[in-house]
Amino acid sequence: MDFMRMYHLFPYSLQNAIISAYGLVLQRRYYGNGFTQWCDTYDSQEFWTQSQIQQYQREKLQHLIELAVRHVPYYRKAFANIDCTKLKSLDDLKRLPILEKAVIRQDAMQLLDERLNPHSLYQDRTSGSTGTPLVIYWPKSMFPKWWSLAERRVRAWAGVRQSMPRAMIGGRTIVKGDSKSPYWRYNYLWKQLYMSSYHISDSTAPDYINAITRYGSQWITGYGSAISLLGEWLCKNSIKFQEIRAVLTSGDNLLPGHRRAIQEGFCCKVFDNYGSAEGCLFISECEHGRMHVQPETGILEILDENGNQCKPGEIGHMIVTGLLNDAMPLIRYRTGDLAAWSHETACPCGRNSLLVSHIEGRADDYLLHEDGRRIGRLSTAIKKALTIHSAQIVQDRLDHAWLLIHPADGYHESHGEIIRNDILSRIGIFKIDVCIVNTVPKTPVGKQSLVVRLVDSPILKDLYQTTLPEIPWKY
Ligand SMILES: [Zn+2]
Repeated sequence: MDFMRMYHLFPYSLQNAIISAYGLVLQRRYYGNGFTQWCDTYDSQEFWTQSQIQQYQREKLQHLIELAVRHVPYYRKAFANIDCTKLKSLDDLKRLPILEKAVIRQDAMQLLDERLNPHSLYQDRTSGSTGTPLVIYWPKSMFPKWWSLAERRVRAWAGVRQSMPRAMIGGRTIVKGDSKSPYWRYNYLWKQLYMSSYHISDSTAPDYINAITRYGSQWITGYGSAISLLGEWLCKNSIKFQEIRAVLTSGDNLLPGHRRAIQEGFCCKVFDNYGSAEGCLFISECEHGRMHVQPETGILEILDENGNQCKPGEIGHMIVTGLLNDAMPLIRYRTGDLAAWSHETACPCGRNSLLVSHIEGRADDYLLHEDGRRIGRLSTAIKKALTIHSAQIVQDRLDHAWLLIHPADGYHESHGEIIRNDILSRIGIFKIDVCIVNTVPKTPVGKQSLVVRLVDSPILKDLYQTTLPEIPWKY
């Protein structure tokens, strides 16, 4: 029996204890060794001039490339015909090949510093917003660096701290799909009310709001699409909820309507941020509503379909060189997300880091349930199987979806069933059929959405019927 199945057999109070114990493990990992010093370091670097930022990135990049060529098997081959000693400026980066996810998926070990024992590293599985599972190795020393950046460049900008009580609205299946209230569990250590993003609807929203009050949450974090449902409910009922200092959203695409509903309902500002699951880039919103690329995390390029640098306002592929992970260097890594540079070259906040105008990658991926619930963040279900190339959930009726699976080596029928059951555990009453395909259809801009709702897109209905004739569509 796997751990989560066992967890769901325990009573509520024991589940809270388990979550708090897990919080202790994460507390040590994230906020241990050197966390406070890193916070001080990042504070001292926050208002660097552009030339200071560039010099910092240049030095880090040279070190990373040198290390990669000497000690990482993949780069030794990939850069064999490039004279890396001549790579002096950030602009020279474009002479290096782009690292595709397929390379990591094929053999993540070839990207590791061969001097390190892989067992000394933390193995993280990520599906990203494109639904392609990957294994990324993090050196343990990287966690305090990453989380101090989250503390000083995300939370501090919103006027909150990790130590303040908060409500997290997230996609972990802490509550079963068909459960009744409470739709949350409590992490005593972090004073964190962890609330299921899968159970919010007009009828459950009052329970959520009451719990946020009862537990004294001072800020809310999580998926914007889910928090906005609570904001909408507050607005509809003319409730001005004034106990929250800020709402920090991440993990999915924050639509303007989501932002408005949250800000009006919770009477506070929304701060959106993007943190790549691979730990190679943080982009966060400042008090003036601009999205700053945090320069210590990575070097961002935005490229068009032909590999040319995009102009401001032009949406292109995010290519990132991570500067924090020297155990598994990701150099010119295609994240699979899309973004555009801002037309603005300076922000009224006075910080000189680069600005992006929007990030397109995190499509509004959710299944629409008959009772009005939106079941989002299904990418976590895809993480369950490493033997799939990609997956897509196509909702053709309000009570039914197809799970399209493009299998990779080693795929077995049972792997698809694991994903299917994981998705069903979040929804409750719903039907999903698995369908093996040769390729997962892409959007017109070449992006692969994790969820496609044919129920609210007649144009896509036709497209899918033509592209996938093997599916017995029934409308
Ligand atoms: Zn700013």
